[in-house]
Amino acid sequence: MTGCVSNPFAGQSIESARRALAAQLRSAQIDEAELDARILISAVLDLDLTGLIAQATRPLTSAEALQLAQYAGRRIAGEPVARILGTREFWGLPFRLSEATLVPRPDTETVVERALELFREQKIHRPRIADIGTGSGAILLALLHEIPDAFGVGTDLSLTALGTARGNAAALGLGNRSAFAACSYLAALSGPFDLIVSNPPYIPSGEIPKLSVEVRDHDPHLALDGGNDGYDAYRGLIPQAAERLALGGALIVEAGQGQARNIETLMAAAALVVDRPPKADLAGIPRAVSARKMPP
Ligand code: GLN
Repeated sequence: MTGCVSNPFAGQSIESARRALAAQLRSAQIDEAELDARILISAVLDLDLTGLIAQATRPLTSAEALQLAQYAGRRIAGEPVARILGTREFWGLPFRLSEATLVPRPDTETVVERALELFREQKIHRPRIADIGTGSGAILLALLHEIPDAFGVGTDLSLTALGTARGNAAALGLGNRSAFAACSYLAALSGPFDLIVSNPPYIPSGEIPKLSVEVRDHDPHLALDGGNDGYDAYRGLIPQAAERLALGGALIVEAGQGQARNIETLMAAAALVVDRPPKADLAGIPRAVSARKMPP
């Protein structure tokens, strides 16, 4: 130990290290201190919850204690757990992340739910799906996972994000039903598509400095910044999507809090038909806004 800074987890049992970590995170005002502590210790030890319980009294090795202390330091400095581990679950599927992708949010599962609801009404054979600003591929790959005969394409401005999405597609066994293209919105796509989905950047530029450190300092601003009023991406993508939808096809986008009405107006201005209210997320916020292309 000579010359080493003392490690608070050295020599502790798994259970006491978990409690010590949760207490550290709590005193650093981390919201989900207990959950984050459990996920980080699970990752360091490569144990699931049952394993943590079964091995509660086993002492940490010094390598494990060191790694846990490093993770704790990063979390306390504001790095989200998903970034520390480089992976996040979405729609029950594991997604690798990179610096060019958002951490997929549970709210965004609302977009997947609305897309599936509309798809099931259409009863289309071999549907074609496009995901605009695909990031890690989360929305697109969740849909391909649910719809076994679907084919999908994801676009993004970031080549790094497209590489991450492609890797996720391969890891999920969806590589042969997906393609990825670098372009602005749908510029490189011709369609027609049965479903077009997007979680575009929608935070007004002036709000970005006020976001939590987890988002502001760790999510890519390209995926957050929606311009002055937050609607730049909707104004860009909605007319392009309307052109490329098949008749009867649907556009489903994620909305920021308070944005659903204005997005519906943009959809109607592109001659899409808003035939149902937005779908709310678990917090009751209208989150998935959708419209269909109808015969003229
Ligand atoms: N939902 C994200 C947040 O508020 C923003 C994602 C986005 O702009 N599409 O943290």
